[in-house]
Amino acid sequence: MIDLKSQAVWFITGSQHLYGEETLKQVAAHSQEIAAYLNAAKEIPVQIIFKPTVKTPEEILAACKAANDSQDCIGIITWMHTFSPAKMWINGLKILQKPLLHLHTQFNRDIPWNDIDMDFMNLNQSAHGDREFGFMVSRLRIERKVVVGYWQDDLTLKSIAVWCRAAAGWNDWQGAKFVRFGDNMRYVAVTDGDKVEAEYKFGFSVNTHGIGDLVKVINAISDADVDTLIKEYEDSYTLSSALQKKGTQHQSLKDAARIELGLKTFLEDGNFKGFTDTFEDLHGMVQLPGIAAQRMMEAGYGFAGEGDWKTVALVRAMKVMAQGLKGGNSFMEDYTYHFEPNNEMVLGAHMLEICSSIANKKPSCEIHPLGIGGKADPVRLVFDVDGGAALNVSVIDMGNRFRMLVNEVEAVKPKHKLPKLPVARVLWKPMPDMKTGCAAWIYAGGAHHTCYSQNLTSEHLSDFSSMANIEFVLIDKNTNLYNLKNELRWSEVYYR
Ligand code: MN
Repeated sequence: MIDLKSQAVWFITGSQHLYGEETLKQVAAHSQEIAAYLNAAKEIPVQIIFKPTVKTPEEILAACKAANDSQDCIGIITWMHTFSPAKMWINGLKILQKPLLHLHTQFNRDIPWNDIDMDFMNLNQSAHGDREFGFMVSRLRIERKVVVGYWQDDLTLKSIAVWCRAAAGWNDWQGAKFVRFGDNMRYVAVTDGDKVEAEYKFGFSVNTHGIGDLVKVINAISDADVDTLIKEYEDSYTLSSALQKKGTQHQSLKDAARIELGLKTFLEDGNFKGFTDTFEDLHGMVQLPGIAAQRMMEAGYGFAGEGDWKTVALVRAMKVMAQGLKGGNSFMEDYTYHFEPNNEMVLGAHMLEICSSIANKKPSCEIHPLGIGGKADPVRLVFDVDGGAALNVSVIDMGNRFRMLVNEVEAVKPKHKLPKLPVARVLWKPMPDMKTGCAAWIYAGGAHHTCYSQNLTSEHLSDFSSMANIEFVLIDKNTNLYNLKNELRWSEVYYR
């Protein structure tokens, strides 16, 4: 998808000329050492690149300009080893367009109790130097992440790594193109929204192609390529007997493979990072893309059903953020409920399109009728999903702003076989409990479509929403409805 190690975060240390050359040499050496340590840290997925100490307004402005212009730079980390009078930072920060992490650390972990003197005090000043810088960032109302802790501490590294992943997702959105085949599902509200505002706010564009444009590409796929992909299906999945070579519906598997290859070609040719379709507009298509959407997601493309372009973009960003982590991310829908007392849970699924990256074992490839769309039976991958910590994310358009909602959930290990359910499915218990979690989600206007993640945390999404400068609503183990409803009311004022 994207090699995260090809992306860079710049490590920029602020100081001033007041201290003389000797001190500045030490500042540079220490900064270099910290940057090198972060760069080598296993959990940090991108490169951390040391930049020379900035000591004047001109140097700060030039560093921020260079960061904006750099293709590889996805964000900057700042640290004030000494004191860097923050009026020097105004013009640089004013134009900075890359995400900002303020690392509030100190080169020396411990106070050298027996040796501490004024030289030590003059060099290790971040306790106050970083406050001066922090004031200016707050004064300029700039969103950033503040990470506090010794730079070799695991929790510090983890927090930086989370932000780096969010920055990679954010960077991926800038200039990204997503395609919708057909329009929004008729009359559906939450999947719709302001694509102009989204492009302004998020940096990605969403444009429509008639389904005929895609059908033309699908129809041009060669039989040889279809056969090669069928072989891959045979190797990767347990094929139901009807779909096997001699099976009664083997032709449907060929049709599905042709659709996948057509979609792949279309997205690659158009440089698209994701797509959405709708069962209401499938003119000229044999079946609704099922296995195709599932496998395209697993390959890293964004996807959501029914014209839901916001979730397409979200799924893509979360896949970029999560690269290299164990577990997967998928388009999801809260489908049906289990209201057994003290064992309430949600069954998440979709008509077909759940990403196979979250499957708990080799999926089975099946074909079943689909009640809507009026097309031939679609081929799909069917599987269960493991239990464990997970979350659901939704981005909605509130008219005057975008809101991101996150609900932390506990996925439930499947206990039942569900022999008649012909789609991939997940079971989870929303935090803090079913009643509060679902009510909070509905008060906050969260969509029925989400991106379900097994490997990102609410911290990733919180960092990401800061970069996008949008509202962030978290529903977790601490949520109570009284506070949540007030938060929503107060946010109405904030965003007015
Ligand atoms: Mn749906």
